[in-house]
Amino acid sequence: MVLLEQQAKQLVTKQRTFFNTGQTKSVEYRIQALQNLRKGIEKYQQRILDALRADLNKSEAEGFSSEIRIVLGELDYTLEHLRNWAAPRTVPTSSAMPDAVSTIYPEPYGVALIIAPWNYPFQLAFGPLIGAIAAGNCAVIKPSELTPATSRLIFDLIQDIYSEEYIAVMEGEVETSTALLNEKFDYIFFTGSIGVGRIVMKAAAEHLTPVTLELGGKSPAIVHKDADLQLAAQRIVRGKFLNAGQTCVAPDYLLVDEQVHDQFIEHIRAEVSNAYGDDVMQNKDFPHIVNARNFDRLSAFLTNGSTLMGGRSNRDQLMIEPTVLGDITWDSPVMQEEIFGPVLPVIKYSELDPILGEIVCRAKPLALYLFTENEVLQEQVLNQISFGGGCINDTLFHMTSHYLPFGGVGESGMGSYHGQQSFEVFSHHKSILKRSK
Ligand code: NAD
Repeated sequence: MVLLEQQAKQLVTKQRTFFNTGQTKSVEYRIQALQNLRKGIEKYQQRILDALRADLNKSEAEGFSSEIRIVLGELDYTLEHLRNWAAPRTVPTSSAMPDAVSTIYPEPYGVALIIAPWNYPFQLAFGPLIGAIAAGNCAVIKPSELTPATSRLIFDLIQDIYSEEYIAVMEGEVETSTALLNEKFDYIFFTGSIGVGRIVMKAAAEHLTPVTLELGGKSPAIVHKDADLQLAAQRIVRGKFLNAGQTCVAPDYLLVDEQVHDQFIEHIRAEVSNAYGDDVMQNKDFPHIVNARNFDRLSAFLTNGSTLMGGRSNRDQLMIEPTVLGDITWDSPVMQEEIFGPVLPVIKYSELDPILGEIVCRAKPLALYLFTENEVLQEQVLNQISFGGGCINDTLFHMTSHYLPFGGVGESGMGSYHGQQSFEVFSHHKSILKRSK
């Protein structure tokens, strides 16, 4: 423990000394660093895919599309726009001071800490890192210990392309996080659970360090009676069972109009079969549950309500097949915590208003998905319910756009990133009013 604390202290001191040389403030330096990252990812691509397979049984197609491609897309977009984002911005000045010029100078915070989770262990370490580098910071990454192959790969890749005084990785468990959190960072970017988010924010408060918290929660998907049921089922299946449901923005539970419920469940069944084959237990590419603790937690949900589809599991392989649960109420155990696995509870409704009221009473979701062509209803839901972000007639894709800041609200998080917002979140905006004599 003492060793970890010393390590953390030395690392932060080294990075702060390097930051104070001013080298990372040059836009050319940042562009070069981002180009090196791109080359590093290309060089390590097969190892990244192998690590994701070893840790979570992600297929190469899933690993590439949901992790590597997203990071490369962010990198290219950032490289294209960085000079523009980093330039000082002149803004209007009050007419009472006609001689004054007002300018906003984005400047890096200094040394940033990025704490990453295990579910998209590559994307969620490197996505924030792109913002930290683009804004001119030094950074320490703490990957998740639950995905050890990816954690090691992140360490090797970063060590290969950067000096430790600029960008470093500190691998390890909770003690490593704790040792790092005891240090004074200039920015902390945390992705993970609500409980640990609280710990991070408390630690940050000691040093008055600003934070972004990308957390989780229960994200509903509402299927109204006028929805295109086949399309809704296809998009919900893709959003829910990607990475075996271990996705922060996966639809956590379904609210389905009772008039279309039975028909909709048939579509879900057909779409699961289209996506993963008739017997998912035999599908060698279906991702596994990250560990036995999560497997046991999820298995306990399988007996909730009635099983409309699936329900089988294999503890030796940490495999749970896509499962849909009926006869679920708001009081069912599966409705009391974020599921984070391939288990989809369904609540039927006859009137939508009380259902919206139930959502409003609960913690603000990270995402919400609404399937309807009714624009009045779309506006009503957007107006009535606060949530991080989401889609109308789709799932997940709001988080793949460079133009949509991604983040939670309330218990699902604070702050946002992606695209230009990743640059902004790691920048302080220094406002200067300049007058002549
Ligand atoms: P977690 O909070 O358990 O762990 C996240 C990181 O925090 C890991 O690196 C871990 O080592 C560290 N950590 C764990 N306990 C700690 C402690 N006591 N003190 C300091 N650090 C600690 O989260 P997880 O299980 O890795 O990830 C799952 C959660 O993350 C889910 O709730 C999910 O919704 C959320 N998540 C959110 C997003 C998002 O973008 N909003 C993305 C992915 C996951």
